[in-house]
Amino acid sequence: MDALTFDAFRAANVARCLKWHPDGLESWSPSDWLTAVTGELGELASLLKMRNRERDGLPGNKFSPTDRQVADELADVLTYLDLLAATLGVDLGRAAAQKFNEVSERVGFPDRIELE
Ligand SMILES: [Mg+2]
Repeated sequence: MDALTFDAFRAANVARCLKWHPDGLESWSPSDWLTAVTGELGELASLLKMRNRERDGLPGNKFSPTDRQVADELADVLTYLDLLAATLGVDLGRAAAQKFNEVSERVGFPDRIELE
């Protein structure tokens, strides 16, 4: 598979989302989408909490989180974050690159992401 672009991800993500939300992404408010993002962040945090327990030898885990489970929750966060950005009319790839470059400039680092 070629590298996934933000544009390709957005296209597939919105197309699938419209099956759940046939009235459009705007049928959920930005705060609805943000709630979905934070819900997935919570799922990710729970897995990492379990890993912390394992690291510290503490009881309480019902299972040992796998790398795949952690990756899945990161992907869920990205999926909902992209839908939130789409609802707000934000090109997430462009915004990420612009912000990355602004921070690099501010702190005097040479790292830049080329924008088309
Ligand atoms: Mg999830």
